Amino acid sequence: MLCHHGGTMVLRTDTATHRAETLIDLGAISHNVQLLAARATEHGAATMVVVKADGYGHGAVPVAKAALRGGATWLGTAAIDEALQLREAGITAPILTWLYVPGEDFAGAIAADIDLAVSSIDGLRLVEAAARQAGKPARVHLKVDTGLTRNGAQPADWADLVKHALASDEVRPLAIWSHLASADEPGHENIDLQATRFDEAYRACKEFGWNPLRHLANSAATLTRPDLYFDIVRPGVAAYGLNPIPGLDDGGLIPAMSFRSVVALVKRVPAGEGVSYGHSWTTPRDTTLALVPVGYADGIPRSLSGRFQVVLGGRPRDVVGRVCMDQIVVDLGDDTASIGDEVLVFGPGTQGEQTAQDWADRLGTIHYEIVCGMGRSRVRRTYVDG
Ligand SMILES: *Cc1c(COP(=O)(O)O)cnc(C)c1O
Repeated sequence: MLCHHGGTMVLRTDTATHRAETLIDLGAISHNVQLLAARATEHGAATMVVVKADGYGHGAVPVAKAALRGGATWLGTAAIDEALQLREAGITAPILTWLYVPGEDFAGAIAADIDLAVSSIDGLRLVEAAARQAGKPARVHLKVDTGLTRNGAQPADWADLVKHALASDEVRPLAIWSHLASADEPGHENIDLQATRFDEAYRACKEFGWNPLRHLANSAATLTRPDLYFDIVRPGVAAYGLNPIPGLDDGGLIPAMSFRSVVALVKRVPAGEGVSYGHSWTTPRDTTLALVPVGYADGIPRSLSGRFQVVLGGRPRDVVGRVCMDQIVVDLGDDTASIGDEVLVFGPGTQGEQTAQDWADRLGTIHYEIVCGMGRSRVRRTYVDG
C-alpha cells in the first residue's frame, strides 16, 4: 500500500485503517483515463486530464502519473503553482494552466515549459513581460468566451487578441480554446450556440493565416459530443470515475475515492436518550451505538446529519444525530462491533456503501464538491493500485 504525506509517496507495510482516510485507487484512474482516451483517439484527439484542486481532492501528483499511464498526453491545472508542483515531481508532459492573479510567477511557468492561457490583451502583455524575463517565448492558448461568461475574450475583442498574439515575438500561440456552460445537459441549446461561436473564433484565426489547435470538451462533452473533440479533450471529473451526467451510460467509469474510518467506542444505550448535539435523534429502544471519529472537519458535510449511512460490519447502518466536527454516531441496533472495526463512509458503491453521488443528491449539490472537500490536512491519503 502506498501512503502519501506532504508530496512524497511512501510504501506502507501496515494496513491498519487510519482515523480518517481517503483511499485512492490509482488503477481506477488509469482505467477511467484509458476509457476517455480511447474515445478521443478514435476521433484523432489527444487527452488532457485536469488535475486542478489537488486532483479534485485525490492528490494531483499521483493522479497525474496514473492519468499519463492511462493514455493522457496533456495535463491541465487552474493555477500556476499547481502546474509547478507537477514539474517538481518530474512530470514532463505538456501542462496548460489558466487562472491567474497579479504577481503570479509567469516567468517561472515559462521557464518550466508550462503553457499559459491568455484571455485579454492585458494578460498578453503580462505574459510577454514574463517571457522577456524568462529569456524564452511563452507557449500560449488563446481563450475565447463562447458563452460561459467567465474567463476568455469576448467575441468582439477576439480578432484583436489574435492579431496581437500572432504579431508578438515573445509568445508562441499554439491553440485556441473555450469552456462549455451546459455540457452536462445533453441537447441543451447552449452547447450548439457555444460550438458555433467557437467555430467563428477559429475562422477568424484562419483569416490571419493561422491554423491553431483547438480544445473545448470537458468530461460531459467527452462522453456525449465527439463532434466537439477537436484536437484535445479536457476531462476532469470523469477521470476520477464520477459520471458528469448522472444516469448516462458512462461506459464503465470506476470512482477512485473511498473514505473510511474506524470504530472508536461501542456502547449499549437505553431507550429515550438524546444523541449528539441538540438531541436531534433519540434512541427509540435500547440500542448499541458505535462512535466513529470523523466529522465535518474531515469533509463530511454537517448538513448530511440524519440523512446518511455508513457500512460497518458488512452492512449499511444509519448515522444518527448531528454530524460533529470530529465525530459521528452509528446505530447498530442489537448488533455489535469492536473498537478498531473498519467503517466505510463512502466509496464506489460496491460494498453497499453510499457514493459521492448519493451524498450530492441528498445535499442538492454535485459530486465534484464532495470529493474536493475530502482533502483536509488531517485526513490521510492512502494510494492503492487496484
Ligand atoms: C475544471 C475544468 C475542466 C474539467 O471539467 P470536468 O467537468 O471536471 O470534466 C475542463 N476545462 C476547464 C477550463 C476547467 O476549468
